Order: sequence, then structure tokens, then C-alpha cells
Amino acid sequence: MSERLKEDLRTRCEELGIRMMGVAPVERWDTPPFDPWIPEEFRPRAIFPEARSVVVIGLPITLPVLETSPSIHYHQLYKTVNEILDQSTYWISNFLNEQGHASLFIPRDGYGHIQLMKERPLAFFSHRHAAYLAGLGTFGLNNMILTKEYGPRVRFGSVLTSAVIPGDPIMAEQLCTRCLRCVDICPVRALGDEDYPRSLTNKTDCASRAVELAGKFASPCGFCIKVCPIGDDRRLYHREDLDIYDEEDPKYKAHHQAWKHTRSYGSRK
Ligand code: SF4
Ligand code: SF4
Repeated sequence: MSERLKEDLRTRCEELGIRMMGVAPVERWDTPPFDPWIPEEFRPRAIFPEARSVVVIGLPITLPVLETSPSIHYHQLYKTVNEILDQSTYWISNFLNEQGHASLFIPRDGYGHIQLMKERPLAFFSHRHAAYLAGLGTFGLNNMILTKEYGPRVRFGSVLTSAVIPGDPIMAEQLCTRCLRCVDICPVRALGDEDYPRSLTNKTDCASRAVELAGKFASPCGFCIKVCPIGDDRRLYHREDLDIYDEEDPKYKAHHQAWKHTRSYGSRK
């Protein structure tokens, strides 16, 4: 196992502006930590039989931009973060290849159009499960990975590599407080309605909303990650008081006006 390679990887990530990085040995996929777990054909070795480790990186979603959702502003941020993740994982896989370790990147959004997710709501690999196994965070009720730094406002990218790299410990502390804010705000009740257990997302309903918003150039939705109280970013932006999302609260009139303004331009009504 190469500690040195891991240090070099960390340095390469920092050069790319990435501070959140974790490693999961591929064997971790074979010991389901909870139920339901990932079917075998979605696991790293089924996708790339040479894989021995998965390197996962994360980049934050800027909370005040997310707060404008549904909007062109959040739409563009989402695309930008995805593109940087894809470029970064591409460069990380190249770096590992140059060191003699066969590696490949996994695209951030593994689907050609959101409509396809409505028809078959699964990608061929789950970055969220990889991030969990690489110790970057824990699952919340909104089925997203919660991190200490940004709560669920992080997107992840992954590299499958033949290098044997020491894994990071899986986070033991559960960050989700089960406050139900994410469940309550979901406009299509995709999180824990009467037909769906609270540990699962009704992906078809969530994807249907994303399709509707994509037609307006205002996807994705993101409401369930906006209201999550977890994350140091809330302190940075003075967003600890969740009443900020109450339109009736006069304290936050300026914020609601700003969001309304942004939503009014550049996407369809
Ligand atoms: S909003 Fe509350 S219930 Fe939902 S993921 Fe965050 S902490 Fe958990
Ligand atoms: S992204 Fe929107 S539609 Fe999907 S689960 Fe979250 S709140 Fe619901």
C-alpha cells in the first residue's frame, strides 16, 4: 500500500483546487453497510475488473446560489461544478496512469438526458455511495451525503484505479439529525411518502420534477439540500436561522426579493 502515492494524490488534488478527497478500497462494496445495498454489477470491480481502489473528490455547491433555485443561476452552477469534477477526475486518472496504475474516471452525471433518468432512474455507478465508503460523509434522510463542511451541498466525482491506496475510515458519526426539513419541503413528496420508506427517494418523481425544470432551463431542484441545517457553510453565509426560507418572515424580505429577481430572468416560467 502506498502512503506516498496517497500524499502525491492529495498534492495533485490541491493543485486542482480540490480539498475534499477520500479513498475506498474496492472490497468495501462487498460488505453491505446497510440495506438495500448496491447490486454487484454497479460495483467498481464489475465496471473495471482491474480496480483496487476508488478515489473520490468533492466540490461544494454555493449556498446563496442554490437558494435562488429554480433558476438559471443554480442551473449554471450545477453544470459548472459537474464540468470541473469531470475535468479533475480525468486529470487525476491521467496522473495515476502516468505513475503506472491503470485508472479511469467516471463521469459525474452518467446519463445523456434527464428524461432518461425518468425512464430508468439509475446511473451505472453511484458517486454518493463511493463518497460514503471513502469516509467523506454519511447519508441523510434526503439520500444525499452530508459532510461537516457543506452538509449535503457537495457534488462528488470518482476515479477507479488499479493502485492499492490506503483507505480512509468510514465516518462513524451520523450527521443527519432527522429534522425532516428535507422531507417536508419536497414539492413532489419524493422523500418518504406513504408508498416509499423514508430511507429511499422516489427517484421517478424526483426525476419528473427535474425534467419539468430542465424544460425551463431551471434544473435541478435542490430544495432538499437547501434546507438541510448541517454544514459549516451555513455559518459562513449567516444561514443558521432556517426561518430565512419563510417568505412571510419580514427579517428576510431582502433575501426573498433577491431570489425572486434572479428567478425572474433567463429561464422559462
Ligand atoms: S434536512 Fe434534516 S432530515 Fe434532511 S438530511 Fe438534513 S438533517 Fe437530515
Ligand atoms: S431534488 Fe427536489 S424533487 Fe428531488 S427529492 Fe429533493 S426536493 Fe424532492
